[in-house]
Amino acid sequence: MSERSETSVGVIGGGIGGLASALYLLQSDFDVHVYERAGAVSDVGAGVQVSPNASRVLHRLGLAGELARVGVRPVAMHQRRWDDGRTLVRTPLGDVVVEAFGSPHYQIHRADLLAILARALPKDRVHLAHRLVALADRGDRVEVMFENGATAAVDVLVGADGIHSTVRGLLFGEKRPRFTGCAAYRGLVPAERLEHLDLELTTQLWMGPGRHFVHYFVRNQQLVNFVAVVEQDSWTRESWTDRGNVADAVSAFTGWHPQVREILHSVDETFIWALFDRAPLPQWSSGRITLLGDACHPMLPFMAQGAAQALEDAAALTSCLRRRRARPIEESLRLYETARRPRASRVQSLSETNKTRFHLPDGPAQRERDEQMASGGTAFSIKAVDWIYAHDASVLVAPTARP
Ligand code: FAD
Repeated sequence: MSERSETSVGVIGGGIGGLASALYLLQSDFDVHVYERAGAVSDVGAGVQVSPNASRVLHRLGLAGELARVGVRPVAMHQRRWDDGRTLVRTPLGDVVVEAFGSPHYQIHRADLLAILARALPKDRVHLAHRLVALADRGDRVEVMFENGATAAVDVLVGADGIHSTVRGLLFGEKRPRFTGCAAYRGLVPAERLEHLDLELTTQLWMGPGRHFVHYFVRNQQLVNFVAVVEQDSWTRESWTDRGNVADAVSAFTGWHPQVREILHSVDETFIWALFDRAPLPQWSSGRITLLGDACHPMLPFMAQGAAQALEDAAALTSCLRRRRARPIEESLRLYETARRPRASRVQSLSETNKTRFHLPDGPAQRERDEQMASGGTAFSIKAVDWIYAHDASVLVAPTARP
């Protein structure tokens, strides 16, 4: 049972992690306010895979119906070879994951997911056009200041402000994330344009030398989302995300299977993202301030777990703070970090490993990988991801959290 109190929490950042944590905390009777630098809660036109460990968290927030309304449930994850389309491994999802883990695997438009979270929050809890620029931990409260001149004082501050987190920079010093040597073209194609391909209801991941391609349906199968990842030596653009050139994306996949090329050819516009990450941070919290999501564990999207881990953080943080009468806030935040850091770091490093695995040039190592995949011994077999999908982040600390 939660304890009613007036403990106030300021959440910096209205992305998936920030909104979900605000909702979780609000449902546990915290006095929560979200501060988002943008003038609207919105996201890029792209998809996101919501694995069972993440949908479990969203279901707990009472969002199962909303998710089912816009989400697409793939029947399988189909990993294929880049040129001839040969199946490397086909991992069942659909009802199989529901039976195995008690919650579904969804593919969702990011804007749909954010809208679901935003609708569930009372409007007066989300403050748009509030860019955090300064903070001070006074010991008994945290004071924050925004670019627009507004200020606030809260009992707990949560930095859910993404990979370039201002909160992290102010707490632990500014350190630029590292370029991973990969860039991703992302786009959405109206499904009716691709009807002739007769795409199956799977998440498809095509692996080839130095690149890979992922596509799946979102928004009630009205759109096909793709992510086309290419290796490159450096990132010289000013911004880390930019409008991409469709012709460049098509030419990067010369010689690939016609299905991949057809999807790329059919898109009207594409965005290119430089993929950055960080080595696991030694520390997430200081005093009454902590971090969540990409602010503390940005990762390559090669396990499709970045948003999922942010959602797990939201559930775990709430579990830790709920027993707030039993222990000081600082201790609750340490408990949260202790509970979450090893798991998030493990997913971070696995995501990095997948860069090599997905992008092997054709040759002996690739053949060995393909044989392993065929035998089911890879990171995408249901057995191998059990530790990720079966995890219930909200009960993570329950045994030690009791007063
Ligand atoms: P963000 O989504 O970055 O949100 C941070 C928010 O903070 C933003 O709204 C920003 O405007 C705001 N903000 C920043 N600075 C300030 C400030 N100073 N003051 C106030 N507000 C501020 N994950 C999955 O789980 N599944 C997938 O399939 C998947 N696919 C991906 C594909 C690609 C190509 C990429 C690049 C990522 C993918 N991810 C996926 C990862 C996922 O997108 C991120 O991990 C997730 O969005 C992180 O959420 P967040 O809330 O921590 O941060």
